Amino acid sequence: MKIVHAASELFPYVKTGGLADVVSALGGALADRGHEVSIFLPGYRAALDHRDAAGATSKLHLKIELGDQFASGEIKAFSPRKNLTVYLVCREEFFDRLAPYGNRERDFEDNAERFIFFCKAVTETLRLLDIQADIVHAHDWQAGLLPLMLRDAERRHGVTLALKTVFTIHNIAYQGLFPAAKFALTNLPDELYQIDGIEYYSQISLLKGGILFADRVTTVSPRYAQEIQTPEFGCGMDGVVQTRLEDLSGILNGVDNSIWNPAIDVHLPARYTAADLSGKAACRAELLKRFDFDAKFKGPIFGMVCRFAEQKGIDLLLANRDFFLHEDVRLVVLGSGSKRLEDEVRGLVARAPQKIALSAKLDEAASHLIEAGSDFFVMPSLFEPCGLNQMYSQVYGTLPVVSRVGGLVDTVIDADANPTAGTGLMCAPTVEGLGDALARAVKLFVDKPRYAAAQQRAMARDFSWKQASLGYETLYSDAL
Ligand code: ADP
Repeated sequence: MKIVHAASELFPYVKTGGLADVVSALGGALADRGHEVSIFLPGYRAALDHRDAAGATSKLHLKIELGDQFASGEIKAFSPRKNLTVYLVCREEFFDRLAPYGNRERDFEDNAERFIFFCKAVTETLRLLDIQADIVHAHDWQAGLLPLMLRDAERRHGVTLALKTVFTIHNIAYQGLFPAAKFALTNLPDELYQIDGIEYYSQISLLKGGILFADRVTTVSPRYAQEIQTPEFGCGMDGVVQTRLEDLSGILNGVDNSIWNPAIDVHLPARYTAADLSGKAACRAELLKRFDFDAKFKGPIFGMVCRFAEQKGIDLLLANRDFFLHEDVRLVVLGSGSKRLEDEVRGLVARAPQKIALSAKLDEAASHLIEAGSDFFVMPSLFEPCGLNQMYSQVYGTLPVVSRVGGLVDTVIDADANPTAGTGLMCAPTVEGLGDALARAVKLFVDKPRYAAAQQRAMARDFSWKQASLGYETLYSDAL
């Protein structure tokens, strides 16, 4: 099949969260299975500077209609592996920035312009290069208008650009909401500014475009596909989702085991397998050293790696500060994002720097070390479309402590509720729930045989992309 992806993040070129890992791993897995895969990505500075893009060739110069103006752009392409082409949608004024969506305080003011331009540029490229896609697969709100733009362009030009379109919701909390006045930038027919179009409470929602107009809609875990139909998790879009139930499904993300694999991980001081965990002990020693903790510490180390966003349950962690201050444990947090959350975690560190550490930045290497060197990985999300870190941690023999929501339910088994199959600990997404799970983690840690058995079960789980990529392949074939 000829499969075209469009997304605003792609590992290793630009990443703020799981989206980048997923598009990269899925694109790679489909290419390895012999499909002809293209991935469109905004031409961010980081992507253009990446060594893979050094030999990128210019494919097209574009003039894109944005309301009553035209914006020029350029498409550059390179091929990082067999069967895979990455197309960078370049326009300096929009994408030559240090961060993809905004600074810490707020989003960029021209995000509507930027991502409407992106969707239009992808559509134009498919048309002008005559790519003849079987499937166009758009990800999240930044590519949400693509299914709609494609059909609109097909109608106007009398051509077929994609046989079928798929839209994946990686997180329904991010809806691409903009003032109604931005609708004009789409140049779409006026009737699409309506309740059954992309109008959303007197604004426009680019995410809604993807949900309503793609042939198939997916979420990144089966549980999340159920949850977003409810007011509790739908973030106001549950009614919109309800209109697509026949075409909605959830496909669990996988783990890219060429990158997240303790046996070959280039970021670790030592590598290890389930059969020989001595390398994990070396990672633990390195983690203690890196964060200036007592090298002789023998108790449990809790790790956390996440975007600093309310979704990730950092407030629940902070509300359990007494646990981290008074129990004989260590806590390492790696995160970046909300300044409020960062300041509050920093405040906690200041009370016990010999026990609690924070690294407030994006640090790929440190994220691997924390996964490997910790004993427990804490992920008390309030909601979680899939979550990758809880899978990574199991692969690394680090037991996840997670809340009972979304993809976390689909990927973790509680070791107390299910002593023979458990691979981690689960709790309600509440202060008390997390407190109880942390206390249970300490009990599990001191019961060495029980901890070791859960660890072996966690490391034996198969989260590889094989299953997930087969799921998408079947979905594409069914749609076609
Ligand atoms: P989300 O997509 O909601 O951010 P996921 O668990 O699906 O959550 O994916 C998060 C990804 O981002 C993981 O690969 C994680 O390691 C990475 N990540 C998050 N914060 C950081 C950070 N500060 N430094 C390095 N990697 C990070």
